[in-house]
Amino acid sequence: MISLRSAVLVALSASAIAQTQQSKPAQPTQFFALPQMTEAQQQNFPPQLLEELQRIKSAALTDDYAYRQVAHLTENIGPRPSGSMQARAAEEYVASELKQLGLDVQLEDVKVPRWVRGPETAELVGYPGQVSGTSQKIVLTALGGSSSTPPDGMTADVVVVNNFDELKALGREKVAGRIVLFNEIFDKQKAAAGMAFAAYGEAVRYRGAGPRAALEFGAIAALVRSVGSADYRLPHTGFSFPAGIPAGAVTAEDADLIAHLAAQGKVRMHLTLTPQKYPDGIGHNVIADLKGSEHPEQIVVVSGHLDSWDLGTGAIDDGAGVAVAMEAAELLQKLHLHPKRTLRVIAWMDEESGGAGSQAYTKDYASEFVRHTAAIESDAGAGHPMGFDARISPVATNLLQPVLDVLQSFGASALQPSPYPPGADIAAMSETGVPAFGILQDGRKYFDYHHTAADTLDKIVPSDLRENAAAMAIMGYALASMKDPLPR
Ligand SMILES: [Zn+2]
Repeated sequence: MISLRSAVLVALSASAIAQTQQSKPAQPTQFFALPQMTEAQQQNFPPQLLEELQRIKSAALTDDYAYRQVAHLTENIGPRPSGSMQARAAEEYVASELKQLGLDVQLEDVKVPRWVRGPETAELVGYPGQVSGTSQKIVLTALGGSSSTPPDGMTADVVVVNNFDELKALGREKVAGRIVLFNEIFDKQKAAAGMAFAAYGEAVRYRGAGPRAALEFGAIAALVRSVGSADYRLPHTGFSFPAGIPAGAVTAEDADLIAHLAAQGKVRMHLTLTPQKYPDGIGHNVIADLKGSEHPEQIVVVSGHLDSWDLGTGAIDDGAGVAVAMEAAELLQKLHLHPKRTLRVIAWMDEESGGAGSQAYTKDYASEFVRHTAAIESDAGAGHPMGFDARISPVATNLLQPVLDVLQSFGASALQPSPYPPGADIAAMSETGVPAFGILQDGRKYFDYHHTAADTLDKIVPSDLRENAAAMAIMGYALASMKDPLPR
């Protein structure tokens, strides 16, 4: 991209040449007209507010508050699956940090599932060309909500399908009593081209619905090829609709191995997945308000989810999101800025294993959604922010241009219209018409680590995290302090 400045210079010199050639005054063209604010933009974003947004930006880009928060959440507390002691400790930690900042903090009860991973192994015990007395190790992990095999495992033939149609075509006769492997390949080219979430959406259907589909045809266990973009033989866990059979994700490499061998003949697997389900527990959404100075009853939500999968330490998914939401409040307090509306920081519980936190909030606050004037969630990692995915009206998009101009200097000025709610935890709000935003991070590497043991603190680049905190704080404060609530 060329910068606005060089574009203007090019235009000016072109017009100077044109002037000498035609010796008549050049008409100003739209191309080099300087951007002017509309009346509505000027009213909503007076000079003082724009200056405050600039101050937030400068402070955010040199602040390490968010990094310290995510470091504590991931390294001192660790993985935070719903219903775990670490999730509980993380709720207490975030609540106490936000209290220390001077926010009004509540813990909202959330009934959460408790599912705990056990030992998990697999090996191929029969396959074409097998060397007598040997087996081949398969690297895999149980999917969230999976049932358990017997403690010493189960042995069955494996059938490989590339999609649901192939499963149907095989029919009950060829599936019953076997282990089904869904070998849907994650589209890495799509991810590399900046469409990682589209690639994820295509492949994740099999993780979500595959086990139930396999059960319909009598399968005794279901495996999926890991939904991810890296090649380090890492399995990716994630939510799957409980089917009542063992369900796991094998690595991409192991999916290839099984598929190649199955194309040559019979493949038999010994599979051991031993997770346990316990009765539901009580978790909490952490809800912390920085009260609005003029319209405290109007709410702008800034948020991320506090729970994580158990394999890694939940750094990019989504300790980072919680940390940047916390920093939005920290920056305003540090700079003594008072939003007109209430800025509400939410650390959501249970995004990963069913969304009970978002459901509890909807149940408790639905009657107030008319006064929720906007909601932001960061749940797409900690990569460089390019702007926001937004499910908002065209009028609202146009109105926010002065805010995008503030975000421009660090490359975060995209406002991409989203047909879907841009965040799982704010989806219910978005469905009732609350303007909803998700930080639009560079996601090209996100699915290398997503839901794996490698989702750890080192994957967060501190300068990228600062930009994310800047984006969250600038947009959050702008939405909370613009003159009128953002139009729906
Ligand atoms: Zn997440």
